[in-house]
Amino acid sequence: MSIAPLDQENSEDQIVSRAAKSADRASEETKPVKRKRQSTSHLKAVPETLALREEMKAEAEKFVEHLDCANPFTKSTLEKWSRELLEQMNQPEKFLGFMMVLIGNFFWKRQFLAIPFERRLLLLPHCLKHAEGCPAEYDEFGLDCEKCGACSIADYKVRAEKLGYKVLVAEGSPVVLKIIIGGYVDGILGVACLNVLEKSIDKVLIAGVPSYAVPLHSGDCKNTKMDEPWIWEVLEDYRPLEEPLTRSYLPTMRAANSLFEENFDQILPPLRTKTEAAAQTPLGKTEAIAYDWLKHGGKRFRPFITLAAYDALIKDQTSTDDAEAGPTYPLGVQKAAMAIEVFHKASLIHDDIEDDDQYRYGQETLHRQHGTGMAINLGDYLIGIGYRLLNEARADIGAEAAADLVEKMAAAHIKLCEGQGAEMAWQDSQSFELAPLDALQIYALKTSPAFEAALYAGIRMTGSVGQYETLISSFSRHIGVGFQILNDLKDWRGDDNNKLITGQDALAMRPTLLLALALQTADEQQTADLKDILQGNPSDGMRIGRLRKIYQDCDVFTKAEALVDKSRARAEDLAESVENEDFKQLLKFFCESVLAEETPEAKPEPNVLMPLPMV
Ligand code: SF4
Repeated sequence: MSIAPLDQENSEDQIVSRAAKSADRASEETKPVKRKRQSTSHLKAVPETLALREEMKAEAEKFVEHLDCANPFTKSTLEKWSRELLEQMNQPEKFLGFMMVLIGNFFWKRQFLAIPFERRLLLLPHCLKHAEGCPAEYDEFGLDCEKCGACSIADYKVRAEKLGYKVLVAEGSPVVLKIIIGGYVDGILGVACLNVLEKSIDKVLIAGVPSYAVPLHSGDCKNTKMDEPWIWEVLEDYRPLEEPLTRSYLPTMRAANSLFEENFDQILPPLRTKTEAAAQTPLGKTEAIAYDWLKHGGKRFRPFITLAAYDALIKDQTSTDDAEAGPTYPLGVQKAAMAIEVFHKASLIHDDIEDDDQYRYGQETLHRQHGTGMAINLGDYLIGIGYRLLNEARADIGAEAAADLVEKMAAAHIKLCEGQGAEMAWQDSQSFELAPLDALQIYALKTSPAFEAALYAGIRMTGSVGQYETLISSFSRHIGVGFQILNDLKDWRGDDNNKLITGQDALAMRPTLLLALALQTADEQQTADLKDILQGNPSDGMRIGRLRKIYQDCDVFTKAEALVDKSRARAEDLAESVENEDFKQLLKFFCESVLAEETPEAKPEPNVLMPLPMV
């Protein structure tokens, strides 16, 4: 059975359908191509001699003097610069990762040095510890060094703390980005191996967090070394700047975060939970749980999209920025940005019930904690809150803009439900007919409209969306579809914070693109095996291995990666076509951060910097 076409009369759906068809054609096009995502391990050598390391460092410093540092670099630009410099120096490609770190360092160094010591974070790797005799224990912040003096960690820690730094011995634990976005620190001085630093380029540098990295000489995680003077020369240096040299999205990320922290009560004042006692009553319970759910967990990416789009286009009119305090927004804009997150969180509650997911944000899902009936009610309640927030935004953004936002949110809401409904209908049908077109159509419905609505809201609140209407729809479609495919791939790498079990989506009989691609090329025996695996005993531990083997034999992962590349390329082309420089840079940032390249290591290290907020 194939999924029945969704309302083809509707022009927006036709766009979605065309997108899915085009992606489906793309998947056909990729069939003969043997595309393998390159491992980058051969590009992460560190020069053996100090003389060469120093020479490369000096050349990187000179190279950066000629760069335009107004915008944060993209990873591909950093790679291009690094290749250029290696070629100039006649050095081999194997030093690419090392050179990228050096150029990244000098790009940000001046701004890092302008951060007061007490606003800096020093991140030290636990692999510097004395491997045999270290008495320190680990806690949620990493290694709790006892300063026994057996390794250099104590020296750096003592000196840095004396200067005012916050210090973590963790290479980059999930708390790092929270610390930065929470406003506790403004920049990072990190010591890490090139594997970890490669990941942090995606996560931190392209967002505009001033950072300086000292690479370890090897990634062996045991008794490793570094060039100690490199850390001292930055650690103790402070040179203020009049104003930042490079645009950063950090202030906007913080503003999005503040909607759910210090500004929460102003945007969404408590009505039935004004006191602790009131929150415990049956009448206060719904508001208490719902507000708590809004305040805790989640990456606030949707409100960030809205505020960042607003920032990019309002700059053409009046600037509301204060260099010290960061951007400020009218209350109505904050309410609209919060509404986007409220709708998202409502949908997550219902989604978790429908899929009977056990964990969300590292805690039991709401229906597990409070029962299914209460959870359904909480989701419904939040939908009401979302529409109320949009209505309240009228006072600042005007009735017409508020009405347009309501229309956009309603459309996104309906499409999400259609996509989710199609997914469940396919699961119920127990059918094994699933074309890539079907899977991509579901993806386009489930993810892209929410991204589009968030982007639209930011632009609409600055005036007319006009010239951007079609562009943001297409852009969101490519970003949303690409993100969903990446998510499928991550499901097999087991690195999603909420999905601890590899292949979970596949075994739950979800109509994923990977399954569709497998069914498209599977022979009779493989199709029979797929049915046997997916309908088999859930406690059969061999199922994942068997499924992975079929996916590999059908070249599914390679084809899916090629489709992500296509989505990224199309989104980048659209971003490039935008004239407004701030908006163009923002769209490019979304391409880089939402569709971040994954290196092919199957098992990511547990202690890498937490990904930036994602769709
Ligand atoms: S100085 Fe700290 S990290 Fe190093 S061995 Fe001693 S307790 Fe462990």
